[in-house]
Amino acid sequence: APVIGVLALQGDVREHLVALAAADAVARPVRRPEELAEVDGLVIPGGESTTISKLAVLFGVMEPLRARVRDGLPVYGTCAGMIMLADKILDPRSGQETIGGIDMIVRRNAFGRQNESFEAAVEVRGVEGDPVEGVFIRAPWVESVGAGAEVLAEHGGHIVAVRQGNALATSFHPELTGDHRVHALFVEMVRANRAADS
Ligand code: GLN
Repeated sequence: APVIGVLALQGDVREHLVALAAADAVARPVRRPEELAEVDGLVIPGGESTTISKLAVLFGVMEPLRARVRDGLPVYGTCAGMIMLADKILDPRSGQETIGGIDMIVRRNAFGRQNESFEAAVEVRGVEGDPVEGVFIRAPWVESVGAGAEVLAEHGGHIVAVRQGNALATSFHPELTGDHRVHALFVEMVRANRAADS
């Protein structure tokens, strides 16, 4: 089974470890560059993107993260993790950096002003069957994507899921629902990438 790390600096790490294990991956927390080097894929959890950014710099893992993502490491970011994978943030806090990897511009807390937190059924391209239950918690949306990025889902006229090559991002949190189909989609991306590498 593929080994998939969860960046464990801040956020809902445990929920992703459980969801990945349920989707037949070997899941483990990643904090240090040595741990990052050992995984076939990586999840960036939900939480607070400014905090994750600052801790990644402090732990010396920001540059290694950028290098591995540039080299094609499969990555999946939820909510704050989506922000971390954006090439550009519309409204960054001071000192806030991203890993990048997806040619998109995100707006932080975009849904939050009207409605701190809500759930909605979301049709996600590549996920078979019923819509996914989207849990949005002070969620970002994607203002725009570049030519290389594929929009996988929208909600209320706003982009909420994007894929570019081996990078996947959702505004919402499938790890909180018990429905592991989005994690299974990511595990498939990791398997396909491993098969292509070997
Ligand atoms: N609002 C948070 C941020 O800007 C994201 C919230 C979340 O991950 N649930 O990082």
